[in-house]
Amino acid sequence: MTRTVLVTGGGTGIGKAVAAAFLAGGDHVIITGRRPEVLSSAAEELEGALTTVVCDATDPEQLEALRGRLPDVVDVLVNNAGGNREFDGAPPSDLRGLAERWRANLDANLLGAVLTTAAVDKLLGPGGAVVNIGSFAADRGAGSYGAAKAAMNTWNIFLAGQLGPRGVTCNVVAPGYIDSTEFFRDRRSAAFHEERVAETLVGRAGRPEDVADVVRFIASPAARHITGQVLRVDGGVIPTR
Ligand code: NDP
Repeated sequence: MTRTVLVTGGGTGIGKAVAAAFLAGGDHVIITGRRPEVLSSAAEELEGALTTVVCDATDPEQLEALRGRLPDVVDVLVNNAGGNREFDGAPPSDLRGLAERWRANLDANLLGAVLTTAAVDKLLGPGGAVVNIGSFAADRGAGSYGAAKAAMNTWNIFLAGQLGPRGVTCNVVAPGYIDSTEFFRDRRSAAFHEERVAETLVGRAGRPEDVADVVRFIASPAARHITGQVLRVDGGVIPTR
């Protein structure tokens, strides 16, 4: 059965790998992002039934326009757009700057997912799935970014309760250190990389495909009774007892 899958921030990194995984399964995939040139380049690279839509997940007007371009049913929504806005510019030197940083991370990593889900809510039906891309930072005290991802985990439980009676599952897939994406910008020195790899139980960084495979599973009929959960894809950095 061909499904319609919406992946926010699907032009790079984890989102692009998620799009590729669903495309490989024969699904119709719609990817969004803010930079048209990034979406065009992803469209050239990815093979299959792909649609690209420029849309800022934090902008209500752009989300309304996106909704107008979607088919009647969205089977899978992957709220992947996000990133650590603390990496932008110098650390804040006053309260105004601190407030901007916190708002930017809450917008990018929490509000974007909340608004996108509300925009497509009525298009999600029985057998559907919402997959929110969280982070192990939610459990590691990583300032405004970690706080935003932790809030996403809590909101996901609420969402699972709201959509569960309609047959829609809601889960968080929480990556650990994934290299080869745009996430770390120019911060990924050799020492930085080695430190993060050393924290894993498997001795390697995660790859976007490691996350994509779990997203595809959790949105599949094989996972119909899993909802309200956080699934860590971090190479064992945070083991569960
Ligand atoms: P990337 O920076 O490569 O991917 C982020 C994507 O989201 C980009 O394509 C970006 O495109 C898009 N995006 C950002 N903000 C918005 C927005 N407001 N509206 C629409 N699209 C947006 O990094 P990753 O692939 O690593 O990150 C994907 C997700 O995984 C993020 O939520 C991140 O927090 C999470 N994550 C990543 C980890 C890692 O180690 N890499 C670890 C844990 C979690 P554009 O700028 O064009 O909008």
